[in-house]
Amino acid sequence: MKAIVVGAGIVGTSCAWFLARDGHEVLLLDPREPGSGTSSGNAGVLSVESCLPLARLSLLRAAPAMLLDPEGPFRLRWRYLPRLLPWLLRYVLAARPARARAVAEALVALIRRADEAHDRVIEECGLGELVRTTGWLKVARDPNRFERAIAEEREALDRFALPYRILAREELLALEPALAPEVRCALWLTADRHVASPLAYTRGILRAFEARGGRWLPRRATGFRRQGRRVAAVITEEGETAADLVVLAAGVFSRGLAAGLGLSLPLEAERGYHLMLARNGCALAHPVYGIEEGFLLAPIEGAVRLTTGVELASPEAPPDYRWPRRLVPKAQRLLPGLPGRIEREWLGLRPSLPDGLPVLGRAPHVDNLLLAFGHQHLGLTLGPLTGRIMADLAAGRDPGLDLTPYAADRRFC
Ligand SMILES: Cc1cc2nc3c(=O)[nH]c(=O)nc-3n(C[C@H](O)[C@H](O)[C@H](O)COP(=O)(O)OP(=O)(O)OC[C@H]3O[C@@H](n4cnc5c(N)ncnc54)[C@H](O)[C@@H]3O)c2cc1C
Repeated sequence: MKAIVVGAGIVGTSCAWFLARDGHEVLLLDPREPGSGTSSGNAGVLSVESCLPLARLSLLRAAPAMLLDPEGPFRLRWRYLPRLLPWLLRYVLAARPARARAVAEALVALIRRADEAHDRVIEECGLGELVRTTGWLKVARDPNRFERAIAEEREALDRFALPYRILAREELLALEPALAPEVRCALWLTADRHVASPLAYTRGILRAFEARGGRWLPRRATGFRRQGRRVAAVITEEGETAADLVVLAAGVFSRGLAAGLGLSLPLEAERGYHLMLARNGCALAHPVYGIEEGFLLAPIEGAVRLTTGVELASPEAPPDYRWPRRLVPKAQRLLPGLPGRIEREWLGLRPSLPDGLPVLGRAPHVDNLLLAFGHQHLGLTLGPLTGRIMADLAAGRDPGLDLTPYAADRRFC
């Protein structure tokens, strides 16, 4: 079968590799170098214990205070509000307790299967050097604030029987000596693994894809030619290419391409920044989320990567690096060995549906189109699993889980 995958982030590249592994002739379309978009700049956490839905009442209650804090983890560009309103309204509705519980179950059904797909990728693409089982630390100075902040997550971890430990100060500082001695409490999500370079990870999958005869073509898809209930060809600026199967995996830009096929999807960008901070002897070993600070620090590509929370704005709006720059002194208070020198700044676009679940599966009314986008904060974690699921659907195999919660024609709230 001749397949075209549109978009070569971690999700599309994983789809391409799993399809090529099944013996299909696969073309991967992306004008940018594979993996170099949002998939390159994340925190590298294979977050297989993220069991809290993004849309939940506790976050809604906390949002106004977060918005008022210029150093907080949440920002909104007010000019974008009118366009964002339909997404926001659905987000609020999705936070209803019954709906949030259903979303959490659907999320956990994915994260429970994510490791197995990574294991296959790591082994067959030879990526073991890049991945370590470090767990993920969420730390705080103030024990009361810590208890309040983790109560909901702890309840969810217990409910889903996901492993974690609460560390006392001495245990924490022995595990992560780079932390300031005032940091006294930690939740350690022990099952998470960490990728030392998300870009190298996707590139490694690309190399294995090409070794199987797959081809990356640096072209932008501009639309599709339909023939009845099928996509006959993908159109690019250079002409069109026929396909038996098309996988749409263009991250947040999947929205425009899907709209061309009559599929209206509430897909928005939860923008996130990173700063690469010079390490200079600061030996951070684990990804660390500062509960009081509201950002994550992770050892990546020889530096410490500070990744921010969410900025809601148009995907096209220019970056505003003043926000992440303001966070550097806080990062230095958390890791006293950090010199605070910024080596690189970056902005990425987390593709998000209002209920926080990705779209995975066959497109409604288009028989040979598979949809694979909307992985929000978990695209690195869920990319390989998504590739495995798409290959199963292409081959007519049972993907091993019910895909109804991830359907493109669900209510999203
Ligand atoms: C600051 C930050 C920290 C994060 N931390 C983590 C983490 O620790 N763990 C985790 O699991 N996730 C994390 N994420 C989320 C994760 O990075 C994303 O969910 C993931 O990268 C999305 O992957 P993707 O392949 O869907 O999209 P992308 O990486 O955006 O790839 C989409 C590709 O489609 C291409 N494209 C767009 N339009 C077209 C077109 N018309 N034709 C052809 N190609 C097109 C683009 O060029 C791009 O290469 C983080 C995200 C951010 C921003």
